[in-house]
Amino acid sequence: MKAVVAGGGLVGYLEACYLARDGFTVDVYEKYPDPRDRKPECFRSINLTLSHRGEGPLREIGLLDSVLKESIPAYGRVAWAGNGDVLGRVDYGEKGESIQSVSRFGMNVNLLNAADSLENVNIHFDHELLLCDFDKGTATFSFQENGEKKEKTVFADLFIGADGAHSAMRAEMAKQRKLDYIDFKYHEHYYLEMLIPAKNNEYQLEKNRLHVWPKDSFVLICLPNPDKSFSGTLVMPKQIFDQMLESEESLIKFWREELNKVYKLVGEDNLIQQFRPGKPNVRSPCRLVSLKCEPYHASSPAGNKFVLLGDAAHAMVPFYGQGMNTGFEDVQKFHQILKNHKITKEGISAAIEEFSLSRCKDGQAMSDFSYDHYEKLCSKVKKKNYNLRHHIDSTLHKVFPNQWIPEYTLVAFSHKPQSQCRQICKSQDQILTYMFYSLLVFIAVPLLLVLFAILG
Ligand code: FAD
Repeated sequence: MKAVVAGGGLVGYLEACYLARDGFTVDVYEKYPDPRDRKPECFRSINLTLSHRGEGPLREIGLLDSVLKESIPAYGRVAWAGNGDVLGRVDYGEKGESIQSVSRFGMNVNLLNAADSLENVNIHFDHELLLCDFDKGTATFSFQENGEKKEKTVFADLFIGADGAHSAMRAEMAKQRKLDYIDFKYHEHYYLEMLIPAKNNEYQLEKNRLHVWPKDSFVLICLPNPDKSFSGTLVMPKQIFDQMLESEESLIKFWREELNKVYKLVGEDNLIQQFRPGKPNVRSPCRLVSLKCEPYHASSPAGNKFVLLGDAAHAMVPFYGQGMNTGFEDVQKFHQILKNHKITKEGISAAIEEFSLSRCKDGQAMSDFSYDHYEKLCSKVKKKNYNLRHHIDSTLHKVFPNQWIPEYTLVAFSHKPQSQCRQICKSQDQILTYMFYSLLVFIAVPLLLVLFAILG
């Protein structure tokens, strides 16, 4: 059986490894050149957090150990005020669970190398998916040959759309009316990466933590690297970026006033070097997008052959650090379902439909969690009632370990479907609200009675 994967990103290469394991001959088509040929100084990578949902699929394919070797565990989060005061500190899990800080570029190359080393995987760089014929089971890619733009149409038994948030395969599905629902959003916020260097070969912030600067309208999130630096992702509206990047003076003013602690850790010269204010910027901020669609496949009377995985199916804002994890889980779930069917034309068609119909609600639930988490990271983490809620959740979880599970534990450290996690969280919120009002009545009624008695 022949499979084509459109998109050589994190999910595309993992999927190629799974397909090869399941006996497919696989062709991966990636729009851009081989990232292994890029000079490291040409760009900087953001860091991603890998959690249980993403670790399982990597383990299954034999890659988890090599990924963990290049990662740093983070056991919790520290929220900082701009001036360096600690606003709050929480552990992620009740049993010392951790998420892993990994370089996105390192993870991509790791997965690419794994797929590339397999005999039945062929990778074609500089090939862009243009068109899909869902009934004939063909896809057309463009590429350059001797400076000339050419096109080729390929046939396969299974086509995977792992071509990211701006997926061409999803656009084809939308154009050919295969989708019942699509909601693509450009968000107000953009992101740009930065680095807090090591000092005297030591970490300048506590190593095994995610560090966050919640500033209401924007947020800086920093994750540790093995070389003792921290990779930061600054997420904020475009107009704040524009003001910050106008000149050296505006850049320094911004960091000194808003993020003074980081300003001191990085230093003026280094900040200017990293952000190149006032100059044509090679690293301009990228806009955040999110996407929900339904179903994840293109149905065809001739048999279903096309399915979306990862960001192509459910791009989400990055505040929960679950986009890649959810994409990796898609791959694992799709292959679990495929295993229950025969790898025949009919079996593939049935598996695609079953996966698509069962997975959509989880992708959408994870998107909703991610969106809600924005408010938590940007402002709620610095409020006292957020920390109080965290302690209540922790205590209840200790007393009722199987009945009360905090949201973060459900999302990052469990394998429960995300739609189920959302339901559980909603019920827990309702119970706490009910308890709060009951307590209020319990205190207020006797108080009122005493008051009435005094007043006669
Ligand atoms: P992508 O990584 O986007 O890969 C798609 C690939 O397809 C690309 O290589 C692209 O070049 C290629 N392509 C595109 N169009 C075509 C075409 N027409 N033809 C052929 N190839 C094409 N997730 C986490 O789990 N944890 C985190 O901490 C986290 N942090 C994040 C922080 C930020 C700032 C952002 C923006 C995202 C973050 N994410 C995180 C999300 C994560 O990066 C994505 O979910 C993940 O990269 C999705 O992988 P993918 O392979 O589906 O898509």
